[in-house]
Amino acid sequence: MLKLPIYLDNHSTTQVDPRVLDEMLPYFTEYYGNASSKSHEFGWKADAAVEIAREKVAALINCDLSELVFTSGTTESVNLAIKGVAESNASKGRHIITTNVEHKVVIETCKELERKGFSITYLNADKFGMVEPSVVSEAITDDTILVSVIFASNEVGSVNNVTDIGRVCREKNVLFHVDGAQAVGKIPVDVARMNIDLMSFSAHKMYGPKGVGALFVRKKRPWFKLNPQMGGGGQECGLRSGTLNVPGIVGFGRASELLRLEMAEKTPKIKALKDKLSEGIVSNLDDVYLNGHPEKRLPGNLNLSFKYIDSAGFMAAMKDVALSSGSACSSDTTEPSHVLKAIGLPDNLIRSSIRFGIGNFNTEEEIDYIIKKVVQTVNSLREESPAYAVSKKKSAEKEIN
Ligand SMILES: *Cc1c(COP(=O)(O)O)cnc(C)c1O
Repeated sequence: MLKLPIYLDNHSTTQVDPRVLDEMLPYFTEYYGNASSKSHEFGWKADAAVEIAREKVAALINCDLSELVFTSGTTESVNLAIKGVAESNASKGRHIITTNVEHKVVIETCKELERKGFSITYLNADKFGMVEPSVVSEAITDDTILVSVIFASNEVGSVNNVTDIGRVCREKNVLFHVDGAQAVGKIPVDVARMNIDLMSFSAHKMYGPKGVGALFVRKKRPWFKLNPQMGGGGQECGLRSGTLNVPGIVGFGRASELLRLEMAEKTPKIKALKDKLSEGIVSNLDDVYLNGHPEKRLPGNLNLSFKYIDSAGFMAAMKDVALSSGSACSSDTTEPSHVLKAIGLPDNLIRSSIRFGIGNFNTEEEIDYIIKKVVQTVNSLREESPAYAVSKKKSAEKEIN
């Protein structure tokens, strides 16, 4: 039986895998010690669990245990990475390079540094929302200390060529930070092979709990200093003070382990559901446009613009399917998406853009239901659209002539 509403907003957050929850539960009620308590069994138990989780997260991205700092999530990790590098390297240079298709957290952090006297280059992404390594290379100056690039777009799903951007940074002796929130757990990520120096990511985007994440910080080659952004008890080698979120970290570890073991099996299934959804929509409707790169994209991301409709009306009519739209993508605001603007999408296609985010728990039955519902909804909204009526009339006249 199909259960409504259907969740198809897996770029915003994901369901906690029941196997993850099972592993977390004892750390709330039984092993509830503080991982920093060195004098008793409760503390030792919590500390051991954190270190096992650290091994599991490290194995997913191929780094050393000493290179992971647990945080409250990507937002905190990005702040620590960008401000931490800026502060500790300010005597070397004060120029930072990023792109105009980043998540708000990277843009806002860079703006804050701009007010403090750093100069920021916001590289223009191409029409797919990607940046070429050569474009990054040309922007690097003697004053550049850091490049920060989104790994996979949370809006249009395009996946950047991180390995080659990292190589360019390495050659020019510039640190390279990656916003990996959408990539880790969805596509293979190997920080060693991909020349990444810092990477931010969150557990809740990969079937783990909310409010926990990590910053990968390379320890060797290159060695660099990172200024902590929160002082206190000195946890996480002094890089992130504060009592560790033990149950959250245990869940993050289990989620990482499951994805490391199951990603190869899950990815083709998600991609098949995405392709089915895409074909089902495109073969039944005209004037539908794909946003983002046709191939180099996250397996579960489908971002479409439906000409002649308004996404607000669409979402209202699709109440039993949880989706996101480009016109109100940061959900609390009604600002049109800066990412869709940056890739040069005209206003009418921004206003009509919908993001479908497929995850591990979606089913074929749900996709069948959504295809039908989308086709019905778009057809009936277009019936009411004067612009659509005009375009229909024009194309009918063309056929007659
Ligand atoms: C979700 C997301 C963030 C923010 O993550 P939080 O867990 O909310 O801190 C940053 N960047 C990208 C690409 C994201 O998808």
